[in-house]
Amino acid sequence: MAEKSSTPTFMDEVMAIPGGERLRTCIQCGTCGGSCPSGAAMDHTPRELFAMILAGMREEVLRSNTFWFCVSCYYCTIRCPQDIPITDIMYQLKRLAIEAGYYTASITSFSETFVGQVETYGRSFELGLATGHYLRHHPLQSIRMSPLMLGMVARGRMSFTPQRIRGIRQLRAILRRAKELEEEGAW
Ligand code: SF4
Ligand code: SF4
Repeated sequence: MAEKSSTPTFMDEVMAIPGGERLRTCIQCGTCGGSCPSGAAMDHTPRELFAMILAGMREEVLRSNTFWFCVSCYYCTIRCPQDIPITDIMYQLKRLAIEAGYYTASITSFSETFVGQVETYGRSFELGLATGHYLRHHPLQSIRMSPLMLGMVARGRMSFTPQRIRGIRQLRAILRRAKELEEEGAW
């Protein structure tokens, strides 16, 4: 009888997080993509990405910009009918993409700008984040995106100026401690 290979598959790598094995139960309902505030900028919705992972499309998945545009709002995770830890899977994919060298300054700078805004204001400033990213990396696309962004401002879904949260000092202390723990190798 042939022995089963012990080499982990791409699916195994992605699922190697707490609850990650639930990815096998994805029913492709699309609730995650339909809930995602960054969906318009992603080259594959989370649902599509999960189908590609199940199909073993390692390189296509790790070269995707999807997880770099994830702003960790957890909206998809709380709405997923299968309790799949989608946001944590996005983090895992970022880690695997970095390890494989499949990322570019364009997409990581979006992620870095987002983190910088959270450290400064305690929340993201979507208009600044989107316009800065598109003007810097995709100037022609910024023209196409501008009606969408202005429409969101008009409907009160985006602000023209960054808004700082009240507990910013406490948040900064938490982020500082998290960085210290990371440097100490606590996770
Ligand atoms: S919401 Fe959950 S079950 Fe539905 S497509 Fe997304 S990951 Fe799959
Ligand atoms: S956690 Fe990420 S993938 Fe999920 S809805 Fe929010 S931005 Fe989209």
